[in-house]
Amino acid sequence: MAKDYQLTDHVYDVVVVGAGGAGLRATLGMAALGLKTASITKVFSTRSHTVAAQGGISAALNNMNDGDNWRYHMYDTIKGSDWLGDQDAIEYMCLNAIPAVIELEHMGVPFSRTENGTIYQRKFGGHTIDYGKSMAQRSCAAADKTGHAILHTLYQQALKHKALFFNEFFAIDLIMDKDGTCRGVTALSLEDGTLHRFAAHMIVLATGGYGRAYLSCTSAHTCTGDGNAMILRAGLPLQDMEFVQFHPTGIYTAGCLMSEGARGEGGYLTNSEGERFMERYAPHAKDLASRDVVSRAITTELQAGRGLGPLKDHVYLHLEHLDPKIIHERLPGITETARIFAGVDATKEPIPVLPTVHYNMGGIPTNHLAEVVNPTKENPEQIVPGLMAIGEGACVSVHGANRLGTNSLLDLIVFGRAAAYRAAEVIHKETAVKPLRPQDGQEAIEKIDRLRHAKGSLKVSEIRLNMQRIMQNHCAVFRTKEHLEEGIKKLNNVVSSFQDVYLSDRSLIWNSDLVEALELENLLQQSLVTIHSALNRTETRGAHAREDFPKRDDKNWTKHTVAHLKKDKVSFTYRPVHLYTLTPEVEVIPPQERVY
Ligand SMILES: Cc1cc2nc3c(=O)[nH]c(=O)nc-3n(C[C@H](O)[C@H](O)[C@H](O)COP(=O)(O)OP(=O)(O)OC[C@H]3O[C@@H](n4cnc5c(N)ncnc54)[C@H](O)[C@@H]3O)c2cc1C
Repeated sequence: MAKDYQLTDHVYDVVVVGAGGAGLRATLGMAALGLKTASITKVFSTRSHTVAAQGGISAALNNMNDGDNWRYHMYDTIKGSDWLGDQDAIEYMCLNAIPAVIELEHMGVPFSRTENGTIYQRKFGGHTIDYGKSMAQRSCAAADKTGHAILHTLYQQALKHKALFFNEFFAIDLIMDKDGTCRGVTALSLEDGTLHRFAAHMIVLATGGYGRAYLSCTSAHTCTGDGNAMILRAGLPLQDMEFVQFHPTGIYTAGCLMSEGARGEGGYLTNSEGERFMERYAPHAKDLASRDVVSRAITTELQAGRGLGPLKDHVYLHLEHLDPKIIHERLPGITETARIFAGVDATKEPIPVLPTVHYNMGGIPTNHLAEVVNPTKENPEQIVPGLMAIGEGACVSVHGANRLGTNSLLDLIVFGRAAAYRAAEVIHKETAVKPLRPQDGQEAIEKIDRLRHAKGSLKVSEIRLNMQRIMQNHCAVFRTKEHLEEGIKKLNNVVSSFQDVYLSDRSLIWNSDLVEALELENLLQQSLVTIHSALNRTETRGAHAREDFPKRDDKNWTKHTVAHLKKDKVSFTYRPVHLYTLTPEVEVIPPQERVY
């Protein structure tokens, strides 16, 4: 069978899988530091989901003269994380935000400007001055197309540094040694169906989040968390997968994002009674409380019957009171999206919105140097040699139980950069890359062959829809034991039904049916881990709200969930939260009650 497939071998110092913001920042950094670097990406680099990021990237530059300071940024991020974030990594991110964003400016990112020519910064939820006293203007923005501006600049920089791109190559699985070292990765070229084995000193997973496990989400169809699933299949664990962020303002039914930047510029929410209800839930920050708080407030309003429309199932986002000039200048993308997907002129009428899946705090456990960690009881910080992870797919963990807006673009850039520095330190370019063994990658070939000829009775799209409905209904903003258990039962059936999948396209040239089947398998594995992790954590923290355990339980649950998947069964171990800092520059922020 394997002889039916043409197999090509490649050798590089580093192979970065994924060319979104995180992957590109690492790729260009590594190439610039003299490492022979290849980038594998299933979509053309500049189509990665990072291109859709709107609101901005945070850094305490203090361009708006509000007295901003990276220590405030660190405090806000720890508080936003509901004290599940690792404080050493958060310190590293907030301090390095400043040089990392200025580097972006120098690389040519076309940021919006203040009157005196510095980068324009806007308000965003949960970002404050002086430990919560007033709202900070910390989000560096290129209108409402910040991700687009950053991604295109990074791509040009990667080309400038002569990184090699394998565009439209789908990575299937990691190649691991018996001793647990990562040696390479297998991939399918979508264009011609050839199979490839990449051997390298270091594999970097930068494959993004898995929003598509849910029915309504703001992320692209390609956000299927393939790297996360590769980790599970390599026998390695994922961390904190119960923490799924709902963005408060997805456009009603379509799910497209209305950036928090809209509220940062003065937008606000109302219910069916015309009430600005956020004043009740977050008296200080109001509409700019952090996302989990606003999403829960909206859900509570809907449950109390104060939603809009015949089904009372959405609320309004108002921008029509703002100066149309500001809207056109600072939020042009939002207004266009509102027109196309809600049929609304945002300068004249409110926009119907509801909470929609937006971001995955959980993912591949790493340290602040971007090295993948496989925690054991004896050594919770044990490194997996030859493997790094960055971006939304990684769990550093700087976002803990809830990410603040604009901190993801920052995470991509800071840890993409850190990965490059670390790789240059640990890779000895003079040492030859260990050759792959003939049997390496055979399982991937067998999987492709099996799926391509699958003759069951269910289409990929049917199984996917079943999974997405279960995740949306049983593992959403509010969770209970009964509801999660029922969801697990249903999901087990859907996972088993994948054995009965049917593929209509048997070719090897641009077989999107095959790609979607591979992605579906990845989503199913992550859904299992997510819903089990949600059942396992018996407390409410950040984005994980258990109605049957409504309080945060610091005594029992200030720890990271470490989830393992074996033959569709999920089991758990734990990793301590880093309640220490990297340097004496700052002190640990001890757990407090989280109010806005
Ligand atoms: C609509 C929207 C708006 C947002 N706005 C903001 C914002 O304003 N500020 C902010 O901080 N955050 C924002 N976020 C979040 C942020 O944009 C994402 O978390 C971030 O862009 C993820 O970047 P990434 O590099 O990890 O992955 P992505 O950009 O998703 O890229 C993933 C890459 O991996 C590749 N890949 C995946 N699987 C495979 C495979 N099997 N084989 C080969 N390649 C593969 C893809 O081709 C792609 O290149 C927003 C998110 C969305 C959805």
